Amino acid sequence: MAYDENNIFAKMLRGEIPVKKIYEDEYALAFPDINPQAPVHVLVIPKFKARNFPEFVQNATNEQIAGFMKAVATVAAQLGLQEDGYRILSNIGKNGGQEVPHLHIHLFAGKVLGPMLCKK
Ligand code: AMP
Repeated sequence: MAYDENNIFAKMLRGEIPVKKIYEDEYALAFPDINPQAPVHVLVIPKFKARNFPEFVQNATNEQIAGFMKAVATVAAQLGLQEDGYRILSNIGKNGGQEVPHLHIHLFAGKVLGPMLCKK
């Protein structure tokens, strides 16, 4: 399936809708999740057009991949999360529960986050 240029994160990257920027560099943009699931819930997205992590890894250059992954760590460090820790997660496709079809890394922190997966 093709990348959907009209997904909401693509619009944010193009500056078509406002973004409360937490971090930005040439590879990535980070902003708060609109529906936070933890005291700290930030999304980090690559500027590269990819629907998900495997497409990003397959199609981006090593420099773009490294730049993006470093940006995720930089955001966590700048938010002061290294000592107490945090969780990063990326949903992929239907079984992953992905809603927005532009790769994003969720960064959760601010409390003990509990089990990795819901046990329901
Ligand atoms: P996922 O289910 O992994 O695709 O997660 C998509 C995330 O994007 C959800 O946690 C939403 O709350 C979040 N989200 C959707 N629209 C916005 C927006 N305009 N600004 C910030 N976060 C958003």
